[in-house]
Amino acid sequence: MFKRILQLLYPEVCFACSKTLLESEKLLCTQCRLELPRPGLFLSKPNWLRLKFDGWMDYQDVHCFFLFSEGGRVQHLMHQIKYKGAQDLGQFLGIWCGSELNKYNWPSAYELILPIPMHQQRTHQRGYNQALCIAEGISLSTHIPILMTGVERIKNSQTLIHQNRQERFSGLEDVFQVSDPSLFQGKHVLIVDDTLTTGATMLAFGQKIKAAGARQVSFLALAALQ
Ligand SMILES: [Zn+2]
Repeated sequence: MFKRILQLLYPEVCFACSKTLLESEKLLCTQCRLELPRPGLFLSKPNWLRLKFDGWMDYQDVHCFFLFSEGGRVQHLMHQIKYKGAQDLGQFLGIWCGSELNKYNWPSAYELILPIPMHQQRTHQRGYNQALCIAEGISLSTHIPILMTGVERIKNSQTLIHQNRQERFSGLEDVFQVSDPSLFQGKHVLIVDDTLTTGATMLAFGQKIKAAGARQVSFLALAALQ
């Protein structure tokens, strides 16, 4: 009853399209759940996503769950996770993404999930790391453990939208620092982030992890720009 009154006073809206949700809907409306652009985690090779990574380092897989476009619903959705405190939304989407991974038996290959760390100062300002929220959801569905220590972001780099991948990449060389490589040495690590545009941040992080002794690395972004 109380919930109903609250719903009338402050109707909950879909995080992607802002339409008022039905009582049976949670976080996303049914239409968005069906229609948000998802390329499928099983892209045949070579594909547009691998083109962002191939030739830069040796890795196994790169996945993305949603496709985002400028001004589209997915971009709006990611904005809520990143800047509007929607941590439960991040976790919910992570659970959904993890259950898709399960369908293809991917998780058996990955031994650890490593969310891209955020600089301490920024985590403090925002109160959470959105990549970690997504990783928690994926871990809940797949039962792959998350590693939250051992790698830090030591520079609060601000990548610029007009920079190309080479420029972004060279500015990212000293952004991450490995403090305890023994936590992931010899393991196949799944690196998780919220969004992927050029892939430069994920590549810089992946190279660091591989150089510090990970057996193999794969990448998963909740949303990627095609
Ligand atoms: Zn919607």
